[in-house]
Amino acid sequence: MDSFPKRVAENILPLSVARTLPAAFREWHFTGQTVDHEIPEETCRLCDKEGLRYHFEIRNDQTGHRLDVGSECILKFQVAVFDEGRELEPDEARKALAERMRQMRLESCLRALERLAAAEANDILSNALTYYRLHKSLTPKFANVVFWRLQANAIDHDPTFFKVRLDKSSYVTDLGAMPRRNIHRIWKALTSAQRKKAIELGHSAPPE
Ligand SMILES: [Zn+2]
Repeated sequence: MDSFPKRVAENILPLSVARTLPAAFREWHFTGQTVDHEIPEETCRLCDKEGLRYHFEIRNDQTGHRLDVGSECILKFQVAVFDEGRELEPDEARKALAERMRQMRLESCLRALERLAAAEANDILSNALTYYRLHKSLTPKFANVVFWRLQANAIDHDPTFFKVRLDKSSYVTDLGAMPRRNIHRIWKALTSAQRKKAIELGHSAPPE
């Protein structure tokens, strides 16, 4: 079994009935439980990879053992992923885990916005929270105020998880009219297409 790293075998075989890989993987499935640890300092209990922010729980059907692993290992070793009782094909499993990740990022943004709205009595911030709950994105103007105040209040957040919408001409106009400081403040939340748009409007990327 040269194709399986020794540490993976050492981690999973003692918790499985089968004595070899990949047979032992067939006893395991993703339970649907995930944890966002907020800080990327967790370890994958399968491959020992460090620096994980998200844990996905897998369980052995026969021994009942559970392991917190990274989503990459679930896909790489084809640990079963189910949706309403049906085992997903590999490409479906990849999409399902990506969707779960997207959901956790959205929830992380909402937690940051909730903390912010609680920290400051400011109508713009409570409106931004309501807006994000509804649209799962912010307007450029909301994004600017939100990032400014998140930083000012030292509220932990990842700006790349937030989405900014430019799907109305008024939002594009707002983006074009923004002072450079504000554009740079929301830059990390912009997609590469949106950054290109900002540059077309006369803005420049922030210094590295
Ligand atoms: Zn792993």
